[in-house]
Amino acid sequence: MNLHEYQGKEILNSFGVRIQRGIVANTPEEAVEAAKKLTEETGTGWHVIKAQVHAGGRGKGGGVKLAKNLDEVKSIADDILGMMLVTPQTSAEGKLVNQVLIAEDVYYPGDSEPDEFYMSVLLNRATGRNMIMYSTEGGMDIETVAEETPHLIFTEEVDPATGLLPFQARKIAFNLGLSGAAFKEMTKFVTALYTAYVKSDSSLFEINPVLKTSDDKIMAVDAKVTLDDNALYRHKDYAEMRDLREENPIEVEANAAGLNYVDLDGNVGCMVNGAGLAMGTMDLIKQAGGEPANFLDVGGTADAQRVETAFGIILKDPNVKAILVNIFGGIVRCDRVAQGIVDAYKNMGDKINVPIIARLQGTNAKEAKELIDNSGMEIISATEFQEAADKVQEVLSA
Ligand code: GDP
Ligand code: MN
Repeated sequence: MNLHEYQGKEILNSFGVRIQRGIVANTPEEAVEAAKKLTEETGTGWHVIKAQVHAGGRGKGGGVKLAKNLDEVKSIADDILGMMLVTPQTSAEGKLVNQVLIAEDVYYPGDSEPDEFYMSVLLNRATGRNMIMYSTEGGMDIETVAEETPHLIFTEEVDPATGLLPFQARKIAFNLGLSGAAFKEMTKFVTALYTAYVKSDSSLFEINPVLKTSDDKIMAVDAKVTLDDNALYRHKDYAEMRDLREENPIEVEANAAGLNYVDLDGNVGCMVNGAGLAMGTMDLIKQAGGEPANFLDVGGTADAQRVETAFGIILKDPNVKAILVNIFGGIVRCDRVAQGIVDAYKNMGDKINVPIIARLQGTNAKEAKELIDNSGMEIISATEFQEAADKVQEVLSA
């Protein structure tokens, strides 16, 4: 589950990671109130107004702006709220901005150059250990840094038995070129950050930039936090941070119906039981020259009700030109699933406006094929995997 910047910062702050202070606002009036409150607390008159959407690169898209007085806070918040923010990480139409974060300006205008670093914490799947990735080149695209100056990206792996050790925190501060008070601050920052990552059961922290102010404070100016969904039961308060407005509406509906569905860009809808078979099906569709429109694991109980729900969800995607049903009947008998498909087809009538290719294999596969072939429905049956993929190709090119 992805969080907004302001939510990620709340979590960081709760573990003692220094952040740029801020208050979230839903309206320009709330933005002004937030700025007033921040001025009382921090003394600064300058504020930064930041669009809260689940996408990075907001600065480049005009979603991060500085205001030097309350009038500007109001007019900038008014501009950003409700805009469709387009960034290098959004689609061409962009993302609707529902909230803005009003934060103290921590770049102290007029002061000497502040330093921006990059830091992330994530799992290295090759070694099975968490690692901290960091770079002196903060504030810019880390992908560009990785491509053009890979020697400026460092990694530090952490032994899960010991956690991050003090010498490792010092090494990181050293590699970032820090000394004196800033060096000490960075060791504290990275230690707190790593603790926050582990205790919050996150799967990604990306802090870009980490700022060193001219008075040697180290703080998180941005925060991308991804929580591990499988651990959310341990963090009821984090689970409440979910913002469904940011998620794909078809995926939200599918998940609510208990279907394991991921929206993709292609034109062949897939309905499969079992995640492994679903992945295999997507591969075969690609090999046959098509592109999967989704990943969908309907799970073990593929009865008429569930099949109908799944068809309904697949058909919400306007790109779908054919549906491939690929079911392996192990515990669930193929003829039961076939009956489910036929019943669902009958119930849905002309809502099904694309060809369906059904391949059922396993227990009672023969009965299943007969059931489909004799149903009078326009369902193309197949028994072999490749045969099914070829039939998909045939209907697509017809
Ligand atoms: P992103 O573009 O989505 O990654 O959003 P960031 O939170 O990283 O902000 C983009 C850029 O805005 C940062 O790299 C900073 O250079 C700048 N920025 C963020 N906060 C402040 C601030 O308080 N003052 C100033 N002057 N610039 C800021
Ligand atoms: Mn950033």
